[in-house]
Amino acid sequence: MMLEAGTMRTLYVRIILTTMFIMIASACIAFFVTNMYYHYYLKPQNDEKVTHIAQSVVNIFEQSDQKDIEAYLSSMTHLGYNFHLFADDGHAQTFGVPLDTISLSSEVITSVLNGHIYHGIKDYPWKPFVTGFFNNEIANTIGVPIHVNDEVYALFVRPHTVQLFGEMRIFLALLLIIILLFSFLSILISTQYIVKPIQNLTEATKKIAAGNYHVKLNVDRRDEIGRLAHDFTKMSDSLERTEEKRQEFVSSVSHEIQSPLTSIQGFSQALREEQLSDDERSHYLLIIEKESRRLSQLSSQLLTLSFLDSKGDERTNVLFDLMSQLKEVISTTEWLWRNKDLALEVLGESVQFVGDPKLLYQVWMNVITNAIRYTKPGGTIKIEVHKKATQIEVVMTDTGIGISKEDVSQIFDRFYKVDKARTRTEASTGLGLSIAKKIIELHDGTIMVESELNEGSIFTITLPVLSEKK
Ligand code: ADP
Repeated sequence: MMLEAGTMRTLYVRIILTTMFIMIASACIAFFVTNMYYHYYLKPQNDEKVTHIAQSVVNIFEQSDQKDIEAYLSSMTHLGYNFHLFADDGHAQTFGVPLDTISLSSEVITSVLNGHIYHGIKDYPWKPFVTGFFNNEIANTIGVPIHVNDEVYALFVRPHTVQLFGEMRIFLALLLIIILLFSFLSILISTQYIVKPIQNLTEATKKIAAGNYHVKLNVDRRDEIGRLAHDFTKMSDSLERTEEKRQEFVSSVSHEIQSPLTSIQGFSQALREEQLSDDERSHYLLIIEKESRRLSQLSSQLLTLSFLDSKGDERTNVLFDLMSQLKEVISTTEWLWRNKDLALEVLGESVQFVGDPKLLYQVWMNVITNAIRYTKPGGTIKIEVHKKATQIEVVMTDTGIGISKEDVSQIFDRFYKVDKARTRTEASTGLGLSIAKKIIELHDGTIMVESELNEGSIFTITLPVLSEKK
C-alpha cells in the first residue's frame, strides 16, 4: 500500500497530514464548544438537579423515623452519591469517596448551617478544556442544612461521577479511538486512490519522453483525474501521429533526394568511363541537368514548406491585383503551354486582394503548371475569376487526364503522386499541391478539386475578401 515512487511521497504525505490536522483541529474545536455548552447550559441544570436530590435526601431523612444519620447516608452512597457532613463544631464525616475539602471555607459551612443552600456546582469556575463535570472537589457540590436529632449539620452532596458514568466514559473513549483509527486507515487507503492515477500519469509522461507513445491509462473515471487521463491519452495519440508523420516525411525526403542523386552518379560515371558519341554524351548531360534541376526544385519546395510550417498564422499583407498576377503566371509559363499546343483562356475582371503576393504567386504557378503538365496536347485550360460579396473564387478547369476517386482525396498530401512511374521522368515532387493548400489556408481560404478520369479536373480556390482585417 505504501508508495514506491519518491516523487509522489510529498503529495501523499501532504494529504494525510492535512487531513490529520483537520481531524485534530475539529476535535479541539468540538471539545471547546461542548465545554462552553456545559458551562452555560448544562452546569446550572446539573446544579438544579443535584440540589433537588440533596433536598430529597434531607426531606426523606427528616420525615422518617430514622435517627441514625450515618447508617442513612452510608446506604445512600450506593445510589451513586458522595456525602460530607459537617457539624457546627467543624467535625466532618465522609460517606462514599472522600473529597478534597481544603477548597471549602468555613464561611460556606456556616452559611449552610444557617439554612442557606450552597450552589457549588453552578458557581464552579470555568476552565477551558477541563470539564468541571468530573471534578471531585467539595467546592463542586451542593450544600444543604440537615436536622439530625435537633442539631443542624451541613450536608454536601456530589454525584459519584465515576460510579454513575464510568462505563460511559470508557464507552466514549473507545468510540473516539475507533473513529480516529478507522478514519486514519481510511485516509491512508483513500489517498492512495487519489495519488495512484497521478503516479500512473507520471509514469506515462516518462514513457512518452522516452519515445514510447503506447500508454494505457484508466480513462473511465468521471472526475478531474479521469478527464486529465483522457486528455493525456489524446495528447499522446496526437504526438504519436506527429512522430509518424515526421518519420514518413524524412523517409520521403531521403527517397526523393536519393533517386536523382543515383541517376546523376550513374550518368556522370558513364560520361567519365565509357566511349560515347557526342549525341549520347549530350543526352546524358541533359539527364544530369534535369535531375539537378529536380533536386534544386525539391530543396526550394522543402524550404517553402518549412517556412510555411514555422510561420503559423502570420503573413505579409499587401494589396495587389489578383488578375494581373494570374496573367503574369500565364505569360511566364507561355512556352510550356504553347509547346504542348494548349489553349489557355482567362475570364474575369481585375480584383484587388490583400495577402502575401509572393506566396499566392506560387499557388497559381503550382496549379497552372500541373494543369499544363497533366493535359494532353490540344487540350484547353480555362481560368475564371469571380468576385463575390465575401469571397473571391478562382476556378481552373482543364481537359486533362483527370484524377481517380481514390487518388483525389490524397493529392494534397505531401509527396503524393498519382502515377509514380510517369511523374518520375518529369520534374515532379508531389509537393506542389500541399504547398498550395498550406498557402491558401494561411489566407483563410479553401482549395477544392473535382475531377473525372480522362475528362479533366476543376480546381476551385476561394479567398475571403475581408482578409485585410488580419
Ligand atoms: P507534383 O509535383 O507531382 O505535380 P502536386 O502536389 O502538384 O505534385 O500534385 C500531386 C499529384 O496530383 C500529381 O502527381 C498528379 O498526379 C495529380 N494532379 C495534380 N494536378 C492535376 C491535374 N490538373 N490533372 C490531373 N492530375 C493532377
